[in-house]
Amino acid sequence: MIIKNSEYVTSSTTLAQCPNDMFSEVAFIGRSNVGKSSLINYLCSSAKLVKTSKNPGKTITINHFIIKTDNQTHVNKAKFYLVDLPGYGYAKKSGATRSFWGEFIGQYLTMRKELKLVFVLIDASIPTQKLDIEFLTWLIHKKVNYSIIFTKVDKVRLRELNTNIAHFQQKLKTLDKSPIKYHQYSNVSKLSKESLFENIEEYL
Ligand code: GDP
Repeated sequence: MIIKNSEYVTSSTTLAQCPNDMFSEVAFIGRSNVGKSSLINYLCSSAKLVKTSKNPGKTITINHFIIKTDNQTHVNKAKFYLVDLPGYGYAKKSGATRSFWGEFIGQYLTMRKELKLVFVLIDASIPTQKLDIEFLTWLIHKKVNYSIIFTKVDKVRLRELNTNIAHFQQKLKTLDKSPIKYHQYSNVSKLSKESLFENIEEYL
């Protein structure tokens, strides 16, 4: 699959505001600062599609981008929404903001029929974070389809990276017995997009 065109469509603060033209959706989520904007811009080959965040924990919106691909045989694979979900777990968020995040994003993840797959981004340059495990425990409980993307894989030595990844995978295996798809990304070494695109196509 090749992305031919990507365009920002809208930002929503309620589920009802999200687009209603029924295209399938693939969403990206992770802790604030995990590298989500960089990854989305890279996937869409657009340096500024999502403004690289200099201000983590800003407005809580769900952002829809319409993606056109080179697939001419399947209508549902020719056009889909890439959805940028707000980062979780930024310490400066107040209690009220945090519960709004939980309710709003929780509704989107569990009730949005168009949502086919969620990529959960995990910073592989640091040890397994409790917050990521808490979020994944919830996601698994709700039976949401997900894959994992390890980000910032350039940031630490290979040995440390492999230790972080192994610990995370071990932990996740105890929560989810089904096969889990893993990908790796670095905005420095720009790993292949192919496995990610294959993963997306599989669910569209
Ligand atoms: P977001 O808050 O999840 O959207 O994260 P951003 O994409 O804005 O990235 C947060 C910070 O991490 C920025 O300073 C990026 O330059 C940096 N960053 C993002 N991806 C990588 C990566 O793969 N490797 C390294 N070393 N830094 C990264």
